[in-house]
Amino acid sequence: MTAPESGFGAELQPFAGITSFMRRPVTRDLAGVDVAVVGVPFDGGTSYRSGARHGPRRIREASVMLWGYNNALAVKPLDVLQVVDYGDVNVIPPSIAETMANVEAEVGAVLAAGATVLALGGDHSVSLPLLRAHARKLGPLGVVHFDAHPDTWHREFDAQPYSHGTPFRRAIEEGLLDPSRYVQVGLRGPTEEAVDWQWARERGVRAFTMDDVAELGLPAVVRMMREALRGPSYVSLDIDAADPAFAPGTGTPEVGGFSSKEMLQLVRGLRGIDLVGCDLVEVCPPYDHGDITAILAANLAFELLSLMAVRRRGG
Ligand code: MN
Ligand code: MN
Repeated sequence: MTAPESGFGAELQPFAGITSFMRRPVTRDLAGVDVAVVGVPFDGGTSYRSGARHGPRRIREASVMLWGYNNALAVKPLDVLQVVDYGDVNVIPPSIAETMANVEAEVGAVLAAGATVLALGGDHSVSLPLLRAHARKLGPLGVVHFDAHPDTWHREFDAQPYSHGTPFRRAIEEGLLDPSRYVQVGLRGPTEEAVDWQWARERGVRAFTMDDVAELGLPAVVRMMREALRGPSYVSLDIDAADPAFAPGTGTPEVGGFSSKEMLQLVRGLRGIDLVGCDLVEVCPPYDHGDITAILAANLAFELLSLMAVRRRGG
């Protein structure tokens, strides 16, 4: 008879044990850790359908089959990187201010310990404190932002400066990112005013709408994304960049988005960039069907982890 080392983890069958991201050890001991997966189960910044607070747990559940060799990127991430599940940030449901402070402090501590962060949201408001923590350590960042929405809305929801509609407007205003190294991909759907798409562009941001992508083709978009990214870069992936047919479980769905295959191609297209951190947000399990969205999110997180492994390996 053989006994496993613990009651959860990769030594057990995928369906057994207590769920952690990719069945990695759950620990806050970051000695020797390369990547910490951090959940941010907060949806108090949501403007329409809430429920993204349940995202981290469901993405973890959808991730248990992912551990092996990434054939597309030719890397086995867990052979290259020491990855742990750090658990979740202490969020305060009725207080976006306290939650943002906690995210910035806790993620800042993880970064100070030398680990790279892969954050699982939560709604997109959590990206602002994540960017604050990263920029404090690394300076203004390059950013790839996959999203149906620009998240630089000119209207402040109910006069509140912080929500899931404004993190990148605040990030530009606060100098957390370099607008000339910031790319938005997947924009579509109606906005309140034309300025909602224009505001970022007027500041030098490259924005690719779905119409742009249709006209240019995916390889050209990938090439232009990469050209814009010089130096340390952060990826923020709003799952609603994918079409609702492929990601129904999200708070503000917009038709006419990317397929799952195209999302994989876009993320894999970032191979070799200096990826210093990332988040995957807006997975809203109450609106999901058959875990379609959570499975896509878990796989995209695996691709992001693979990008970090490629970077570490120097490939
Ligand atoms: Mn967003
Ligand atoms: Mn969005």
